[in-house]
Amino acid sequence: MNISVVIPLFNEEESLPELSEWIARVMQANNFSYEIIFVDDGSKDNSWGIIENLAVNNPNIKGIKFRRNYGKSGGLNTGFEATQGDVIITMDADLQDSPDEIPALYKMITEDGWDLVSGWKKKRYDPLTKTIPTKLFNWATRKMSGIELHDFNCGLKAYRKEVVKNIEISGEMHRYIPVIAKWAGFSRITEREVHHQERKYGVSKFGLERFVNGFLDLMTITFVSRFGKRPMHFFGTLGTLMFFVGFMASVYLGVMKLWHVYRHVGARLLTERPSFYIALACMIIGTMFFLAGFLGELIARTSPNRNNYLIEKKKNLPA
Ligand code: UDP
Ligand code: MG
Repeated sequence: MNISVVIPLFNEEESLPELSEWIARVMQANNFSYEIIFVDDGSKDNSWGIIENLAVNNPNIKGIKFRRNYGKSGGLNTGFEATQGDVIITMDADLQDSPDEIPALYKMITEDGWDLVSGWKKKRYDPLTKTIPTKLFNWATRKMSGIELHDFNCGLKAYRKEVVKNIEISGEMHRYIPVIAKWAGFSRITEREVHHQERKYGVSKFGLERFVNGFLDLMTITFVSRFGKRPMHFFGTLGTLMFFVGFMASVYLGVMKLWHVYRHVGARLLTERPSFYIALACMIIGTMFFLAGFLGELIARTSPNRNNYLIEKKKNLPA
């Protein structure tokens, strides 16, 4: 099969018939063999009923329904597991992404050898409250990840099969799929300008909290990718440094005190000196960082995938 289209959706009943017809039209015009996998993320409206009806008339349409709403990441992850195509296309269900982009994206994966092609909504049709924070979000993600994309969170993306079968998207990490893919060793990542439209039916499913959550997730993903397998290197360094600073300061304060007592100069009580408390706090926090590092190592060791490495090639060895 050439193409699997994965579409996560939550309460998008009005858009589904138009969207699936449009995709089918594009696929037929280009002679692609395909499947459309709708992942209904616990919709409360009639989305699932509509998917069932669409599937009756078009055997290429498949569906998965969650019992409750888990979020877009869960939908994508489950959809990815079910795909059978050589190239996987993801798109939003709300008709903001255009299926007409599919043939060009397919070609970039199959002929130009890219692992992942991300859509870039250069001209967006979204409210300003969304587009301005999004610029900041993309800038921060570029800096942290070193991947030069303008639009990380575009719903329209194309992947080589190996990519989706080897990455895991949990929590709300769908915003960082290119980062997760790079981290899994798929470095041929690029972007392509795509058309974007205003939402035709229904309402956006994400409010302003998306930016708070997005930035917290960026911190997590940066930390996990750098130190996830060796937390002690982070906490141990920080903890040792802090403890050392605190310890040297207390030694200094103690020696000065003894010196003053010895010389019979009016020595102040240590508890009257703010620097004493700062030194103490440094030592305590440093110790706690160190302990956090130890606990992190213990947790990392029990992780079932601590020794999962993606092997690209083997020679003269059993598969
Ligand atoms: N979506 C989902 N589960 C959710 C929220 C959203 O599957 O909990 C789907 C939604 O139906 C749509 C896509 O994710 O197909 C993008 O959502 P939306 O269009 O609301 O986001 P926006 O375009 O505002 O970024
Ligand atoms: Mg949308």
